[in-house]
Amino acid sequence: ADIGAGLAKAALAGVVDGREVDTSHVIEGDTTLSILTDRDEAAIEIIRHSTAHLLAQAVQQLFPGTQVTIGPTVEDGFYYDFASGHNFTPEHLENIEKRMAEIAADDLTVERIVSPRDKAIEIFRNMGEHYKVQIIEDLPGDEEITIYKQGEWMDLCRGPHVPSTGKLQAFKLTKVAGAYWRGDANNQQLQRIYGTAWANKKQLKAYLNRIAEAEKRDHRKIAKKLDLFHTQEEAPGMVFWHPAGWSIYQTIERYMREKQLAFGYQEIKTPQVVDISLWQRSGHADKFAEGMFTLEAEERQFAVKPMNCPCHVQVFNQGLKSYRDLPLRLAEFGSCHRNEPSGSLHGIMRVRGFTQDDAHIFCTEEQIQPEVSQFIDMLHDVYADFGFSEVIYRLSTRPAERVGSDEDWDRAEAALAEALNAKGLPWEELPGEGAFYGPKIEFSLKDCIGRIWQLGTIQVDFSMPGRLDAQYVAEDGARKVPVMLHRAVLGSFERFIGILIEHYEGAFPVWLAPKQAVVVNITDKHADYATAVAERLQAAGFRAETDLRNEKIGFKIRELELAKVPYVVVVGDKEMESGEVSVRARHGQDLGSLTQEGLLETLAAEVARKGRLQTD
Ligand code: ZN
Repeated sequence: ADIGAGLAKAALAGVVDGREVDTSHVIEGDTTLSILTDRDEAAIEIIRHSTAHLLAQAVQQLFPGTQVTIGPTVEDGFYYDFASGHNFTPEHLENIEKRMAEIAADDLTVERIVSPRDKAIEIFRNMGEHYKVQIIEDLPGDEEITIYKQGEWMDLCRGPHVPSTGKLQAFKLTKVAGAYWRGDANNQQLQRIYGTAWANKKQLKAYLNRIAEAEKRDHRKIAKKLDLFHTQEEAPGMVFWHPAGWSIYQTIERYMREKQLAFGYQEIKTPQVVDISLWQRSGHADKFAEGMFTLEAEERQFAVKPMNCPCHVQVFNQGLKSYRDLPLRLAEFGSCHRNEPSGSLHGIMRVRGFTQDDAHIFCTEEQIQPEVSQFIDMLHDVYADFGFSEVIYRLSTRPAERVGSDEDWDRAEAALAEALNAKGLPWEELPGEGAFYGPKIEFSLKDCIGRIWQLGTIQVDFSMPGRLDAQYVAEDGARKVPVMLHRAVLGSFERFIGILIEHYEGAFPVWLAPKQAVVVNITDKHADYATAVAERLQAAGFRAETDLRNEKIGFKIRELELAKVPYVVVVGDKEMESGEVSVRARHGQDLGSLTQEGLLETLAAEVARKGRLQTD
């Protein structure tokens, strides 16, 4: 309060000598102190945990006989597990929420009470809170037992908490789920209520919008509607691409192939199934065993490749290389398989079978920086073409356990940082987050609803080329081990297409759209003209079709709009007479009459600008 009345009012907790404490904490000597307000990320955690208490208090008031167990925070929110004879349903949540708001409005002081262990056990036993008694009994003997009390209600808790329930103003209960005591299916069944809590109502609203938007954009739902792909139980985590989805995939592959050629890459293809001995030499059989699918043939052990890198070194190793051959950039649309746990699979975002836009650059140490710089140029180009303008850069540096000398790491980290700095890019350092084999830059982008996706990466590798005997003849005639850069722009085609589906909500820019234009006739007598227009578009290289069904024109147009077709070309008497077409762009935009040449030009311009400056 002495620092300022505003700060006193805004204070939610404090940090004393690095430890988070309640605002009621008494400072007894010189300390380092900071005050947490709702602007601090750490305070939001405290708000969420305090809201879990608020939930438990409301539930116990509304459903007497309910016992509390644990109520931790989770990403964006919290939950509380209850043992109750009442069966909580989603319909109860509104009532519980209402009671929570009432308790918040009462602005009850949150009190911290230190209690001797025996007394705490007695208190909770008398309250009939048998789970809490168990928790106290299991706490280490020297741990201080604290109880948090608000009004008549109390809970065993380490804290800290907000000073009063009035600080909790922005929360929402989201769902009910089953749970087990201590997460063990042999134990008693509990009921879990989830909620989200934020520093203010504005943040809460933004979060709820984000969730609703994400749900609406769920790539699995949109893919079904647009008939893009499916997955099925016989091949968990593998994708069955349908014609429309495969059209998008192939467009991206063609684009990346062209881009890589322009940036000096050579494309290769390496085997899907490789003897286990190669994976032993590369270290994957040791470090990555659980992630690999293995098989046996003629009494030999093989593994389906989980990554392409060791195979690329085999290509590099064919024939003696000299410094003149470097940098050597080998690219592969590499099909990989990893044995991900089936519970973690998610549409095409998290799969077991995927294709990377992978490449490895073999180079000298001096070439690291120019190669990274060139890679960043390519990556910017690609992301912009897909409609993403905001890129986030993170440089991960040496971890405690690593190979390579400190001088190697100094130079490689400096080369990566310099490549970013020379372009004036803002980047964040993640100390210690590099791979054991070298530092890396990771590139993430923000989609249109603010979600961040990590896609691209470029990693320096001091380890693998040596392990797999890669070498070249240096200028002085000596044999040297090249540096290997692993890099990808999109990551995997599957996940990237999943992101695109959600980002565009299925309304792909024209260059990616499976059907770019559909020509529809008004009546049968316009069918031949419609076919002729479609054929002209096809001859010019566009993905065009006709819809000659004997349906009302309005019905056909509406269906094609739902199918997110960018251009619907309508032909009737007037158009047939003038040799023109009437064009409707997506989102109901009427372009009016165009000559056929005008339509070709419009389509060509759209395809050429790709995803850049998407204004619709
Ligand atoms: Zn690699």
